[in-house]
Amino acid sequence: AVDGWSAGVLWRDLAAAYGARLAGVAPVWPALPVGYVDFAVWQREVLGESGVGYWRSALAGLPERIELPVDRRGVEPSDRGDVVPFRWSAELSAGISALAAAGNATAFMVVQAALGALLARLGAGVDVPVGVPVAGRLDAACADVVGMFVNTLVLRVDVSGDPSFSELLGRVRERCLAGLGHQEVPFERVVAELNPTRSVAGHPLVQVLLAWQDAAFLDVVLPGVVSSPVPLHTGCSRVDLSVSVGPDGNGLAGVVEFRTDLFDRSTVESLIGRFERLLTTVVATPERRLHEIDLLSDTERRQVLDEWVGSTEADGGLLPELFAAQVARSPDAVAVVCGGREFTYAELDAASDRLAWHLVRSGVGPERVVGLLVPRSLEFVVGMLGVLKAGGAFLPVDPEHPGERIDFLCRDAGAVLTLRPEDVFVDSSGEPVPLPILDPRHPAYVVYTSGSTGVPKGVVVSHGGVPVMVGAQVRRLGLGPGSRVLWCASPSFDASVWELWGALGSGAAVVVSRDPVGDLAARGDVTHVTVSPGVLGVLSASVSVGTVVSAGEVLPAAVAARWSVGRRLLNAYGPTEVTVCATVSAPLSSDVGVSIGGPVEGTRVWVLDGWLRAVPPGVSGELYVAGAGVARGYVNRPGLTAERFVANPFDGGGGRMYRTGDVVRWRPDGQLEFVGRIDDQVKVRGHRVELGEVESALAGCEGVRRAAAAVRDG
Ligand code: AMP
Ligand code: MG
Repeated sequence: AVDGWSAGVLWRDLAAAYGARLAGVAPVWPALPVGYVDFAVWQREVLGESGVGYWRSALAGLPERIELPVDRRGVEPSDRGDVVPFRWSAELSAGISALAAAGNATAFMVVQAALGALLARLGAGVDVPVGVPVAGRLDAACADVVGMFVNTLVLRVDVSGDPSFSELLGRVRERCLAGLGHQEVPFERVVAELNPTRSVAGHPLVQVLLAWQDAAFLDVVLPGVVSSPVPLHTGCSRVDLSVSVGPDGNGLAGVVEFRTDLFDRSTVESLIGRFERLLTTVVATPERRLHEIDLLSDTERRQVLDEWVGSTEADGGLLPELFAAQVARSPDAVAVVCGGREFTYAELDAASDRLAWHLVRSGVGPERVVGLLVPRSLEFVVGMLGVLKAGGAFLPVDPEHPGERIDFLCRDAGAVLTLRPEDVFVDSSGEPVPLPILDPRHPAYVVYTSGSTGVPKGVVVSHGGVPVMVGAQVRRLGLGPGSRVLWCASPSFDASVWELWGALGSGAAVVVSRDPVGDLAARGDVTHVTVSPGVLGVLSASVSVGTVVSAGEVLPAAVAARWSVGRRLLNAYGPTEVTVCATVSAPLSSDVGVSIGGPVEGTRVWVLDGWLRAVPPGVSGELYVAGAGVARGYVNRPGLTAERFVANPFDGGGGRMYRTGDVVRWRPDGQLEFVGRIDDQVKVRGHRVELGEVESALAGCEGVRRAAAAVRDG
């Protein structure tokens, strides 16, 4: 076990022995001033604790892991590896040297700063630890010794505050010089000191190495023999990603070694392309801030800003019109199945007309909210239609919720009146009144979700979004006359808008279920079901339902595998703020993997960094959504509305987009993969919960000063 330097010593000795042999004499070996044992003794007994203090403070608060743009997340990688070579042009290499000289730094420092900047831009955060091997032969007496002297320094690249590259180079230079000043402390000593969590799957302290490689030691000069080095790869990778680079010919060249369990070769090739583009940019414009550096290739730019984004073109309309069209088309078709009884479109239409006239006479109209204190039932459907026809917005309120919450919702949303089940069917004595003319921007419903400040927030969704959503359902789920849609969601979640309008907007029937999970398992008379993956996880997949939509939470691959056999299984994604659904996957099967798919009809999506710039495919970013479905905002929360519904820089028409707080990334096939949340919002059995809401409720209790909430499995 020796280091690279030792190879040069070995080749030289080999040449001496070979030359002596040719000459028929015994080789003469000069005596070595020290041996490897002396070095080992020095390291253990002389060095002691010196320098350890430096590393303790230099590495305080080191991130335990950084996020790399891997192809496969959540795997425990083995050490299987591969390499991809690269070469930079003489021009770029000269530019790197010039940039180094201008900053009183070395070419290595430029490359290190660029690597840190690259990884930061690709999602690694602003504190990027890079392992840097050093020769470790600090004493000239060691120069001729064969042994393992090489050491690894952990150098952090501090990318915080979006510096210019020149500024970053200055920071790297300082850290590099200080680190080199303490390079004698062995890496294992630093690891022992910092005591990070160890894992067989990962190198401690660093996932990325950067080595400066001088290829000269590979030259074996034997008299009468022509030799040339042959690159040989071990098939292993010591860390997740390792870059070695150095002078070669008239430029810089090197290889990137990577763990094949994490990266595909093509991903590493595109990483190398980005590295080169970044270096080319900083050499030309070192004062440019890091976020301004364009990392996209032309193809990628087309994909993430055009091809994969979706289109806001869609057939719109208003909810009463959408329903009226179905009534006109097939008045006698079954619209609702409830408690063993069937109600036709015509019956539903007549009942909701009477309610609408009554509501209009009571002052309901556009911009007015009506509470629906009604459980999942025929009454809810009639109530919802009546309110919408009257031009109002319905506020679904679960009658089983605590009175305090019910009062809060009705008050906060400014409900002008509240309907209970017994208020919904009004007798036929009332005269028709003209119904108001609606605008797609008028609110259609208000749904409350958890609020991080401790108070639930109402999302105001307008009319325009739902018909577009129905259009997407018809196309993606094949909904239409003859379909029977199970209504499982609680009316107080917008998932019930998806179920009810998917049916009523397409001429299908709503099957009202009292016991969604049990019913889903037992009945064979529905064609379409939408449930959370948690429900799918506990049910047997032998149910005879042709189309199952998993929604609301991460769909585990194992659940997807079980439910995708013999039926259409889709994964739908969307926050309440964009009218239920923003993206839907293609039908899942075990060979396509789980994704949340792409934008639905009428919707555009972007994956952006903190500066609202599109990130490259494979790189995590925040998902932003635009289109007819984007809600008007939150009730009575102009500040929060302005924060989440932001101006859309990709819309020349001055539209807004919703910032979801969801972290996603584009797969190479243009499908989105869900990665996680940017904040403390969680899902507990499909329920959206802001941990902050729980914490502030706890902190409001007598005797509690501070509280922290977390989700635990089970
Ligand atoms: P809600 O507004 O209650 O529908 O919750 C929306 C949030 O649920 C999203 O912002 C995501 O965090 C999460 N979510 C919804 N659908 C999915 C999905 N298919 N996969 C992963 N997370 C999802
Ligand atoms: Mg939802």
